[in-house]
Amino acid sequence: MTIPRWSGVRIGPTGLLIAQLLEYYPKKAEIYITSGMDGDHGSVSHHYGMISYRGSPTAALDVGAGGYNPTGSRRMRDFAKWVYDHFAAEMVEMIHTTPFPDDNGFYVRNGKKNPGGSWFGYAVRQAHLNHVHIAFDRIGILRSIIKAKMLYPPPKPAPVPVPVPPPPPVIIPPVDPPVPPVPETLWLVDIASWQAPERLGVANALDLDKAKAAGVNLVNIKSSQGIGYTFNGGVAYAAWAKRIGLGISTFHWLDASAPGAVQAAYAYAQVVRMGGPDGFAIECDCEDNATNAQLREYVDWWQQKIQRKIMIYSGDWWWQPRQANYAPWGTMAALTPYYTAAPNAGYLGSYPGEESSHWKSGYGGWANLSMMQYAVSPIVGIGGGNLSKSAIRDPAVWTALTGGSP
Ligand SMILES: [Zn+2]
Repeated sequence: MTIPRWSGVRIGPTGLLIAQLLEYYPKKAEIYITSGMDGDHGSVSHHYGMISYRGSPTAALDVGAGGYNPTGSRRMRDFAKWVYDHFAAEMVEMIHTTPFPDDNGFYVRNGKKNPGGSWFGYAVRQAHLNHVHIAFDRIGILRSIIKAKMLYPPPKPAPVPVPVPPPPPVIIPPVDPPVPPVPETLWLVDIASWQAPERLGVANALDLDKAKAAGVNLVNIKSSQGIGYTFNGGVAYAAWAKRIGLGISTFHWLDASAPGAVQAAYAYAQVVRMGGPDGFAIECDCEDNATNAQLREYVDWWQQKIQRKIMIYSGDWWWQPRQANYAPWGTMAALTPYYTAAPNAGYLGSYPGEESSHWKSGYGGWANLSMMQYAVSPIVGIGGGNLSKSAIRDPAVWTALTGGSP
């Protein structure tokens, strides 16, 4: 059931996303939309769709729940509290005043809560006793929808009871020599803004439920780049991956903008926001203009911090010309044995198998790749556009990088 709208309500593209968020409200049967871009909201208002926040256009909806009376006021308060508790940080504006003595109303401006509503003034507060005014910018509403999807996952279908077969006859197995287990290949894709709703929109962004169904086991989520960029969307993806049991790695794009230890501390702060580093694999993405000393310092900092090895991503084209300058310190492989890159021959159309000679690296002291980035191409039906696809042929690599996570 879609939330009803009063006749004459006009809603623009960002407003439609806000309406979509309201569908997640557990008591949505109690609310309705009274105004979007229509109506008089003073000379300047998010309602008109003419304002932007952090470069992203805004929209406002007014929501009613039965009017200013004991039942309606309680329903408006409940709805306002739900929005306020879950999404305040992503809102550009929220105004709702209640007659109840045990709350301070619900007021937000540019992601900041304002208990009591002093920023809005008495007249504005009084004008919002009979509806809940909420406004989001496009980035904020897209993030909020992702959060709502995680808060309210679709119910799992009830398991179909399986008939119990009669017990099989007891057979004493012949004694065979033990067979060594076949290593189980792990499949990983990278996630950065290029895969995320902020560039592709919610409909085309990478869907981790579908990725898992397509056989992906691990995700490698960008944390940061240099000391000037953090991939904020990674927090939601990490939570999603954790909820459905995908292994999590994170990567930082190392460049020459700051010493290795400074970049490591910058990346660490974001990894903590993502729920790590315990149980996470940590990767250093070294394919830009960082110096050997910056790379070494970055890897050292992390390994001392988490007391286990991290992995370096680079390429033969990047590393081979620089390894002579690194030689006075030994080899990179002595610093960390875990190394990932594309095959020296370049990307392959598909995974070449565990026995393939494409696993050989042969530089930097690394004889073989620990993880092979074998292709960059889409996986049909899971979103995210072009995906960097990697394989780990030996699960012990993942166990070591995550500190024992299976
Ligand atoms: Zn309004």
